[in-house]
Formats: sequence, C-alpha cells, structure tokens
Amino acid sequence: MPIAPEPRPAGTMTAEAAPFDAAQPEGQPQHAPERRAVEAQPRSDSDPGQRRLHRVVVVGGGAGGLELVTRLGDKLGKRGKAEVTLVERARTHLWKPLLHEVAAGSMDLDDHALDYLAQAHWHHFRYRIGEMIGLDRANRRVLLAASHDEDGRLVTPERSFPYDTLVIAIGCRSNDFGTPGAKEHAIALETSEEAARFHRRLVNACLRAHTQVEPVRPGQLHVAIIGAGATGTELSAELHRTARSVVAYGLDKIDPDKDIKITLIEAADRILPGLPAQLSGATVRLLQGLGVEVRVNARVTAVRADGVQLASGGFIPSELVVWAAGVRGPDVLAHLDGLEVSRSNQLVVRPTLQTTLDDGIFAIGDCSYLLPAGQTRPLPPRAQTAHQQASHLFKQIRRRLNGEPLQPFVYRDFGSLVSLGEYSTVGSLMGFIAGKGMMIEGYFARLMYRSLYKMHEMALHGTFRVLVGTLARSLSRRTEPHVKLH
Ligand SMILES: Cc1cc2nc3c(=O)[nH]c(=O)nc-3n(C[C@H](O)[C@H](O)[C@H](O)COP(=O)(O)OP(=O)(O)OC[C@H]3O[C@@H](n4cnc5c(N)ncnc54)[C@H](O)[C@@H]3O)c2cc1C
Repeated sequence: MPIAPEPRPAGTMTAEAAPFDAAQPEGQPQHAPERRAVEAQPRSDSDPGQRRLHRVVVVGGGAGGLELVTRLGDKLGKRGKAEVTLVERARTHLWKPLLHEVAAGSMDLDDHALDYLAQAHWHHFRYRIGEMIGLDRANRRVLLAASHDEDGRLVTPERSFPYDTLVIAIGCRSNDFGTPGAKEHAIALETSEEAARFHRRLVNACLRAHTQVEPVRPGQLHVAIIGAGATGTELSAELHRTARSVVAYGLDKIDPDKDIKITLIEAADRILPGLPAQLSGATVRLLQGLGVEVRVNARVTAVRADGVQLASGGFIPSELVVWAAGVRGPDVLAHLDGLEVSRSNQLVVRPTLQTTLDDGIFAIGDCSYLLPAGQTRPLPPRAQTAHQQASHLFKQIRRRLNGEPLQPFVYRDFGSLVSLGEYSTVGSLMGFIAGKGMMIEGYFARLMYRSLYKMHEMALHGTFRVLVGTLARSLSRRTEPHVKLH
C-alpha cells in the first residue's frame, strides 16, 4: 500500500541530550554513539501570544488504543483542538482476535494489516514508532527505546515525548508462569510475527513429513495447545481444518486422520473456564466430534523440543507447541515511575480509568485492572472491554479539555462468542431475555462473532470503506486458495 507523505507535525525532533539521559541498554549492538532525542517544544511555546495545544499521547495502537487515537484525531486533531500522538512499537496493526486465523493460515496477514503511518495521515494524528520503556511523571514525558532494523542498524534513537494527557493501552502477554522450556519450545500467539512464525512451522512440518523417506513419527505432526481459553480453543478448531486443507493441496503422503493430531490441554476442570459451563459442554462435544483430543485437569510442568510434560507424569509428544494460557501485564508496567500495578502486573485504574496515583495518566484494555464496585473479579481482558473503554475515554478526554468533571466507566457484558472455524460458532448473549443470558450456536453466532471485528474496522475506517473492503475481499477469495500455503 503506498504511504502518503506524513503531515508536517507541530513540533519536530531534535537530537539534544535529554535531562534523564541513560546509558545504552545492555545487549544492544554497538553503533556510533547515540543521543537520546527529545521532542522539540511545540511551535507555540516560542510565541507566548499563541496558545499551546493540549498534548494527548496514546501508547499502544491495538484494539483499544487505535480506535481511541483515530477518533481523537478526527475530532480534535483535525480541528486543531489538541495535538494527538500515537506511540506504537509495531509498524502495522492487526486486530488481535484474528491472530489464531493467521497462525492456522486461514487469513493472510497482508490482507488485513493496517499501516499506522497511513492511518495517522488519514485521521490527523501523529504516529511515532517506538517501544515505551519508562515514564518521567514529574516532567510528563514518555521514554522510548531506540529501534534497529534486522541488520542491527539504528532506525530511531532513544527519545522522549511530552504529554499533558497520557493513555496507556499496551495490552498484555500470556503468562507461562516460568514453566521450564516454555520460552524455548512453545510459541505464544501475541503478535502477528509470532502467528506467522507458527504458520510457517506448520507448513514446513507438513512439507518435511511429505518428503521424508521414513514414515511419519509419532508426535511429528502433532500440535499441543496449552490453555483452553478462547484463544486456545479457537485455534484448535481452526487448525483442524486448515492442516487438512494444506495436505489436500497435494501432500498425499500424509494421512490427515492418522498423522495429524491436535491436543488441547487445560489445567482447570473444564475448557473455556472463564465462560458459562453450558458453553464449555457444547464446545467439547464439537471438538471431540472433529477428533481434537481435550485434556482437562492437566497441568503442564515442562515443555520440551519433542512434547509436553504433565504434572501427572504423562507426556504428550508434539512437534508444535502453542502457549495460550494465563494473562499478565507487560514487564514495563512495573517500572512506570511508581504507578500502581495489580498482582498480574496490570495498571490499577479508578472508575474514571485514571491511574490511582496520577490524574493525567489513564489506562485502558488488557493492560488495565479495574475492579467494579461490589465485584470480586476485575473486568475481563477482552476486545469488547477495550472497545467500550476506548469509546468512553474518547468522550472523557473531550470533557477534560473543556474542564468538565469525568464520568465513571460502566462495562456492559454483551456475552461471549467462541469461533470454531468453519465448523461452528458458539456463544452466549447477555441481557436478551429479561436480563438473562441466551445460548446461541451456528450461523447466527458466526454472524455475531464477525460483527465484533466489523465494529472495530468501522471505528477505524468508517462504514462505507468497510462495506467496500468486505465486498472486495469476498470477491478475491474466490480466486485464491482458502488457506495460506507458505
Ligand atoms: C489469538 C487471540 C484471540 C482472541 N480472541 C478474542 C475474542 O474472540 N474476543 C475477545 O473479546 N477478545 C479476544 N482476544 C483478546 C483481545 O484480543 C484483547 O482483549 C484485545 O486485543 C485488547 O486490546 P488492547 O488494546 O488492550 O491491547 P492489544 O490489542 O494487545 O494492543 C496493544 C498494542 O500495544 C503495542 N505495545 C505493546 N507494548 C508496547 C510498548 N511497550 N510500547 C509501545 N507499544 C506497545 C502492541 O504492539 C499492540 O499494538 C483474543 C486474543 C488473542 C491473542
């Protein structure tokens, strides 16, 4: 996609040394000496007659952050009412709930990834690439690490950005609880790169098995998925279909029913432990009908190159292992100039979504921890939470700029949907019958599931572009394989 030239920002970068200049981080390649750059004072600071714009900085352009910054850019950036900046470590955005489809190969990353530079240009905010590594709350600055290309050459230096209002929306990571071998041998589906890496490994495993002289070994084409939350469960169904599709494109030495095996492993006593029990039952029946092995009450004690070791003493041979269990805030949150974090390392926020110790800093989505009054569990780390919080904060930032008091965030649970690939979708919708939940399954559930992604797309591009894009994709899918083969 061609990228239009970036709009000229109000402030430009200079290579001055910042007051909090730090040593080069350990383990980075040695280059010509770097200097931490600071964002120059906005234009109006040098002209006392001109009012300086309020600076809103959003860190993390995911399900919540990108919707927020797009709406702020359209409403405030475009009209010159605020200077809106997105700080994001990646160059492109993919809605995270699609990652299991990328991993399985049923979705091509290039078709759905959104270029941050282009989005910033079209929606009147500034995009600054970089990973947040700290905060200077006294001087209200976000500190970013230097970034390097694949050859180790410096792309952007260490630098810092000033803010008046800061929103942290950097998501969370799965939690391997320090399980031996998990980092080395299991892939976590947290980024597009990881999902694409898993898919390449899957295709390579099939190609290897097809070309080798000896018969397929036990475990060679087995996939173990650790964690049967929504991510793991959805991946197991999606993989079942796509692995068979890959083989169907001519890898006839592989017998899918005999050679390919998928095992879903869960430490709790049922799969989808965070969702209604009825939903778990329906999903297990469907997965078992496909031949997916479901192991509950199975705690993983180690991951090895050849499989997964269980606390019971059992061993599940598998060449491919996915870690999809647990949720934990990124490590950087523990070092944000004293901001309060929960036991799972998420930023603790008040009902206004402000952090407990700093009125000017907000957190939304998976990286935030909000315990609603009278409840014992925090809000769930889901796309619908991030989406609702982004919509709420958009209104609150406008109120803050107008000097009005902030309103509390109220979460509405619309239910949960689990996509089982092309086989089915199951879910529960909340509040449909006298405030009670209603189980749904099949085509209607699939439609509802897809509408979650459409809502995200519409928040980013508007209804018209989403309709045209959807039509174009459905036409092109007729001329392309239904599974990614490389
Ligand atoms: C495979 C999978 C399937 C899922 N399915 C569903 C589902 O069906 N329904 C549902 O409701 N939820 C689902 N989820 C959960 C959902 O994706 C998350 O709840 C949602 O994406 C959270 O949004 P967020 O904005 O908080 O964070 P994210 O969407 O994770 O975005 C965080 C962004 O911050 C950036 N970032 C991270 N660290 C830094 C840093 N230090 N500096 C700068 N940038 C940084 C990241 O690159 C990323 O762009 C799924 C998750 C996964 C992984």
